[in-house]
Amino acid sequence: MKILFVGAGLSGAVTGRALAEAGHEVTVIDGRDHIAGNCHTVRDPETGVMVHVYGPHIFHTDDAGVWDYVTRFMAFRPYKNRVKTTSRGEVFSLPINLHTINQFYRKTFRPEEARAFIAEQADTSIEDPQTFEEQALRFVGPDLYEAFFKGYTEKQWGCSPTELPASILKRLPVRFNYDDNYFFHRFQGMPEEGYTEMVARILDHPGITVTLGTWYEPAMAEDHDHVFWSGPLDGYFGYELGRLGYRTLDFERFTAQGDWQGTAVMNYGDRDVPWTRITEHKHFSPWEEHEGSVLYREFSRECGPEDIPYYPIRLVEEKEMLGAYVARAEAETGVTFMGRLGTYRYLDMDVTIREALDTAALFLARTGAGEPMPAFVKSPL
Ligand SMILES: Cc1cc2nc3c(=O)[nH]c(=O)nc-3n(C[C@H](O)[C@H](O)[C@H](O)COP(=O)(O)OP(=O)(O)OC[C@H]3O[C@@H](n4cnc5c(N)ncnc54)[C@H](O)[C@@H]3O)c2cc1C
Repeated sequence: MKILFVGAGLSGAVTGRALAEAGHEVTVIDGRDHIAGNCHTVRDPETGVMVHVYGPHIFHTDDAGVWDYVTRFMAFRPYKNRVKTTSRGEVFSLPINLHTINQFYRKTFRPEEARAFIAEQADTSIEDPQTFEEQALRFVGPDLYEAFFKGYTEKQWGCSPTELPASILKRLPVRFNYDDNYFFHRFQGMPEEGYTEMVARILDHPGITVTLGTWYEPAMAEDHDHVFWSGPLDGYFGYELGRLGYRTLDFERFTAQGDWQGTAVMNYGDRDVPWTRITEHKHFSPWEEHEGSVLYREFSRECGPEDIPYYPIRLVEEKEMLGAYVARAEAETGVTFMGRLGTYRYLDMDVTIREALDTAALFLARTGAGEPMPAFVKSPL
């Protein structure tokens, strides 16, 4: 079959590769002038530093199948994500751990003492937290909430944590030991030569043709037996029911000599600092040496029609519109919506790859049985 993939990010590349390996003729288009979507990395010509163009990306997963998949195409170097935050003139370690608690309260607690102390700070009158703020107060109390969550969250989401659902803070990351590894996952690392090179190798198959700088036109579907759409769900329908809400990011790039901040990611928790974090890209490749350094100050704001959509908002209003678009999509034939934009969900890279592999498996099973492919393999609702 002739199959068109709209989007050369991980979703399009991974499913496209599997279908090409199964003998299908695959075309992958992307409106941007590069592959790898939002994971795109590029070596800065001036300093030689590998830059995460659309913000920091750390690969982490518990899915051994996904880890085997990525390491088939690229060597991964060990990398532990350790985040710091500047709050009220001090630097703390995140996620909140025993070091953070002891530094913040000027204590020397051992784990069980800290656990008991934090339990005393927690607002236990909140039995069933509904909002982000209630969730934080319920688990860590007002001091840590205000220092580490409140200002950061207001900047990140552009609204009060009282307006955000508790689900955003579902699993509150508090550790009662000195483990400052941000992720719990078994496998964690950085692709030695960047994500874009990894995606290039995934796309490197005689059955795959990649065309960049090409936005989708409905007429393209006529030349293909099936379309996999990893662009925005509402975009497929020309935004006719309105635009699904996203947050976008602005990056203010600057360069320095040597080591500017001593770590890859420094968050800024205070409301009066306009940026949410500063990323120093050279620290994502600690095995490399560069004299120069490239940094991004990161600002979050509402996404306009011309901006790049980053984080889906998914509040009540968006969910209603999403339901209407999903109904439209399910009435279509010959198109499957996938990935972070196609299903309007925040997806980590490992989840994206898992879903892309499952999508390919379902397509092969359905077409083998002469059955139609559904609009969604994973429901956005
Ligand atoms: C700031 C940020 C940080 C992140 N950090 C991490 C992290 O640390 N770890 C992690 O695991 N994940 C992280 N992620 C998630 C990761 O970026 C996603 O999992 C991944 O990008 C999803 O791939 P995708 O192919 O679904 O979407 P995308 O990468 O967005 O690819 C979709 C592609 O479709 C193209 N496209 C859209 N519309 C059209 C059209 N009409 N015609 C042609 N092309 C079109 C776009 O140009 C884009 O290249 C982060 C995401 C963000 C936003």
